[in-house]
Amino acid sequence: MIPAHLLDRPFACECGRTHHIPTRHITIGRGALEALPEALAAAGRPKGLLAVSDSATRSAAWEAIASRLVPLGIGVTEVVLPAGPHGPPLADESNRRRIQQAVRPDTDAILAVGSGTINDLAKVASRTCGKPYLVCATAPSMNGYPSTNASLLEAGLKVTRPGQGPSAILADLAILCAAPLPMIRAGLGDLLSQQTALVDWRLASLVQGTAYCAATARLVAGPIQRVIREAEAIGRRQETAVGELTEALILSGFTMVMAGQSSPASGAEHLISHYWEMEAALAGREEPLHGAQVGVTCILTAHLMARLADRAVRDLPGPPRNLPDAWEAAEPLLAARHGSLWAVVRQEARAKHLAAPDRVGRFAMLGERWAEIWAALGPLRPDPGSLQSALERAGAPTTPTDLEVTADAVERALVAARDIRNRYTVLDLATEVGLLEGWAKETAGRSAPEIAPGASHPAGQE
Ligand SMILES: [Zn+2]
Ligand SMILES: [Zn+2]
Repeated sequence: MIPAHLLDRPFACECGRTHHIPTRHITIGRGALEALPEALAAAGRPKGLLAVSDSATRSAAWEAIASRLVPLGIGVTEVVLPAGPHGPPLADESNRRRIQQAVRPDTDAILAVGSGTINDLAKVASRTCGKPYLVCATAPSMNGYPSTNASLLEAGLKVTRPGQGPSAILADLAILCAAPLPMIRAGLGDLLSQQTALVDWRLASLVQGTAYCAATARLVAGPIQRVIREAEAIGRRQETAVGELTEALILSGFTMVMAGQSSPASGAEHLISHYWEMEAALAGREEPLHGAQVGVTCILTAHLMARLADRAVRDLPGPPRNLPDAWEAAEPLLAARHGSLWAVVRQEARAKHLAAPDRVGRFAMLGERWAEIWAALGPLRPDPGSLQSALERAGAPTTPTDLEVTADAVERALVAARDIRNRYTVLDLATEVGLLEGWAKETAGRSAPEIAPGASHPAGQE
């Protein structure tokens, strides 16, 4: 159950902050569409709706929705987004404009019928037009339903844009269980990836003193464990299990709304995946589903965390020597590392580089606090084997090879992804103690043995 006391009213938290989830109504279950009147009431009782879908989400859900809207006397305008170059529509500027231009004087609210892309566009378009939005979910594929930010594609690159949270979320399991299996499995990946993100969120608070809220982390801990136990049933669309997954994904979305940023659900594993996405977008390649990618990258990240946690302070190699402290000297090296992505990552990379100017001092501090840091992270840190087993049981991808990511791209992203956002993660910690590059090479070698032959396997010699 979604705790009703969390919805639509600010609450004071043990962390000292006040959290607020603006969503007013959520129904998850078979027959959830019966709650359309309540959902519409939560969105201000619109008389005119703009329904946004694409051909796949429309055929999955529209008949069931429309048959319930007609008796309510609600006028509906529809915009069905056109297919993108790889099938599903893109969350891009032209689709955003298409929605905004379809808003008429008698449009009181926007109804999103879909999952990730449709919701991201509806969040931004409804905020721009000053109309409420509500959603009928079509797949449990990601944790973004309640979120207030949207991930859009602008000039070929993924950017985060402010949107608004939905007034209501309806997740009818008759529709969600019929979603394509890769999308259901992707939802499991996105959910599991929160476990490494929470470790990173706590790590940043320990190293940089940024805000962290234990109550927010606790909100998802139990639901994630329940979903892990149901992984095999999720992989065969079993309804109760898909319901558990959907509920946990919505709670996962809450953690981002409560924190006012994506950190609780987006750490190193998301940075690595974003790096692959950006490379794919530049090359015009089709990207694997977001949740499929972060499922794989959270296993990699959990392995890195385990490697660091097991390392004694005396065995830490030392501060990185290949990147000068001065920005002017470091910039050409970073530019070479990022190649054609440099123009877009430069600003964040610069902020991150300058955030840790004294690498020797930082290394000394981390050495002194090493045991304390890993003791604090211990209870949050997921076992990489349990992540892998859950994804395997659901039939989801577990390796970069499953995603058709080459060993080169694995190594490049593991080393470079930390530069794309000024957010402290385990990738920064590993860099600062001199372990990241060796681990990246070793991991890339393991991920595609046919490309990096066993003869040059660098295991154990970082
Ligand atoms: Zn809190
Ligand atoms: Zn995600």
